[in-house]
Amino acid sequence: MKVPKSMRTYCPKCKTHTEFTVSIYKAGKRKGAKKGERRQASRKKGYGGQKFPEQHNQAKVSKKQTLVLKCKECNYGMMRKGMRVKKLEVV
Ligand SMILES: [Zn+2]
Repeated sequence: MKVPKSMRTYCPKCKTHTEFTVSIYKAGKRKGAKKGERRQASRKKGYGGQKFPEQHNQAKVSKKQTLVLKCKECNYGMMRKGMRVKKLEVV
């Protein structure tokens, strides 16, 4: 699916419709020193490795992707609800 680089939608900060730039959300880089990572490492320590099941056989062929919108006038950022598409690109 192709989405336009910019779209016009309601900005809650400007309280009117404005132009927004569109990009695709990407998860941030994993940092080893963060709390969740440290907790997972301590859980996995010692005998009996993985503490909860890892998913191997995925039923779905698409992945939920989120659009990140940013107001061109006030820089207010928001996200659109994730949609299931095989391929998403900003044109
Ligand atoms: Zn705005």
